[in-house]
Amino acid sequence: MEKRIGSTTVSLVRGDITVEETDAIVNAANSRLAGGGGVDGAIHRAGGPRIMEECRKIGGCPTGNAVITTGGGLKARYVIHTVGPVYRDGSHGEEELLKKAYRESLKLAVKKGLKTVSFPSISTGAYGYPVEKASEAALSTVMEFIKNNKGLDLVKFVLFSDRDLTAYTRALEKLTS
Ligand code: ADP
Repeated sequence: MEKRIGSTTVSLVRGDITVEETDAIVNAANSRLAGGGGVDGAIHRAGGPRIMEECRKIGGCPTGNAVITTGGGLKARYVIHTVGPVYRDGSHGEEELLKKAYRESLKLAVKKGLKTVSFPSISTGAYGYPVEKASEAALSTVMEFIKNNKGLDLVKFVLFSDRDLTAYTRALEKLTS
């Protein structure tokens, strides 16, 4: 599914983010930037050790913030590492932190002059954020950002499962109807 908002396309696809050819891909990292399972492990495996070398130099990233490194051997030139919240019960600032993680990632992309960026579904794996809620927070943040900031041609969500793609599709339909 695709929607055009101003001069930016928002695209939802099912797939593996490590093979994306956008200028940057976003990693759902942890605050130590230490690598791990899920999409984080997949990105470091596919991109090789240069990404971790830069992560070590940066040292860490608080929840809701984002940092940028090389894409190493990936097709994407950069990896933007952001740290989403661990979901507890929804009353611990999770939504604001998740939105901030998307916003800070988009800000970094624009600051670097990038035109195209791909996101995974941040926080909805090991961090336990319910995907129906997370998809609305993610897409509403992206839409608000691109209404207020020029420069991005494409914001793509690369979802790993049919269930995730369905949740994001419903959320985008709801937000644009
Ligand atoms: P978090 O710790 O932020 O929850 P996870 O990596 O555990 O991060 O999960 C985030 C999402 O990334 C999950 O929906 C998971 O299915 C998905 N995912 C895992 N591997 C990939 C991949 N190669 N490409 C895109 N999404 C992926």
